[in-house]
Amino acid sequence: MADSVTRFETAFADWLGAGRAFAFWKGRVAMYALLKALGVGEGDEVLLPGYTCVVAVNPTKFLGATPVYVDIEPATCNIDPAGIEAKISPRTKTIVAQHTYGYPAEMDAILAIAERHGLPVIEDACLAIGSAYKGRRCGTFGRAAFWSFQWNKTFTTGIGGLVTTSDSDLSERIARLQAEEACRPGLKENLMLSLQRGVRKAVLFPKTFMLLQSMFRWMVDHGLAVGSSGTHEYRQTEDPDFFKRMGPSQGRAGVREMRRLEANLAHRRRMADLYASLLDDAGWPRPRIPEHLDPVLVRYPVRVADKAGALALAARRRVELGDWFDQPLHQALAALEQYDYQKGTCPNAEQAARDVVNLPMHRRVRERHARQAVDLVCEIGPAR
Ligand SMILES: *Cc1c(COP(=O)(O)O)cnc(C)c1O
Repeated sequence: MADSVTRFETAFADWLGAGRAFAFWKGRVAMYALLKALGVGEGDEVLLPGYTCVVAVNPTKFLGATPVYVDIEPATCNIDPAGIEAKISPRTKTIVAQHTYGYPAEMDAILAIAERHGLPVIEDACLAIGSAYKGRRCGTFGRAAFWSFQWNKTFTTGIGGLVTTSDSDLSERIARLQAEEACRPGLKENLMLSLQRGVRKAVLFPKTFMLLQSMFRWMVDHGLAVGSSGTHEYRQTEDPDFFKRMGPSQGRAGVREMRRLEANLAHRRRMADLYASLLDDAGWPRPRIPEHLDPVLVRYPVRVADKAGALALAARRRVELGDWFDQPLHQALAALEQYDYQKGTCPNAEQAARDVVNLPMHRRVRERHARQAVDLVCEIGPAR
């Protein structure tokens, strides 16, 4: 019988309808493998939305290429196709279409621009498991897509990531990188992750979320837990340990999660409907999401008048509320200029970072938690 990682890869590729899947230690590592397989290197440029995780910027930097940021559309926080063309240069190598929070990016417009310029599109589908654009699954539009199974995503393998693609040339190159260049996680890391998954299951509830999140971030910074991102992750050069495959305990968790994926997605859809109706009842100004987008959200974003105040109140009241994205490059520890982001260049992204908090939708969130979260943001009030 195939090993657990291979079984997870196969299950995911089959579910998506992609040719192949390749598992790595994290989503960002999968992205790195993909960019490398596309030949991204010194002097190249990668187009990204100016509203992303800093860890989705690092792979570009590690390869010696330059990230170039495009502003977002306020309603979905996705890359604004109207801003792409002005950022394309002879050095552009690829466009990253990120499906933010689970809202599908405008794939038709993005692909049309990319085609005009002969560029491949890759999808950052880390937040879009199950989302669809015009009836077709996110992750099947670009040359390839990458996915994340980090603690806070649609489902978790502890940490973990995948590349999927139906392009056979690209598949071969990624297979070679995975087999020949990526190292394997150690026994200890594997064990730590299993342990952490167990502890998390035992203690993480909407009521404990805010406290545990700050404890966990502290532990990771002090080397006491395997986090998705310790402080070391934000260095500007590649760690020798960075390019790593997925380990067997992650593979097993992935196989288990694939079996309950449909229930997971159905729960998320119910929660999104519930949030929409609670917010509508409260007279909250919800953005209009175009009909052809069929998102399965990871977290439910809302724009509040006082983000810091909302998060502080949530911590005091023990109500789960998320802070992504805390700045245009979420969780960047260094100045954004170090990631080639110039302040003021993506005003919509900067505004979203100031306004957006997100409401939880994971398995343990019940109607009463949703009501508490909505009551809390209503007390703070919507962003003007
Ligand atoms: C989580 C996330 C990543 C990175 O995933 P990791 O598994 O944490 O490396 C990349 N892009 C987006 C949009 C994400 O949400």
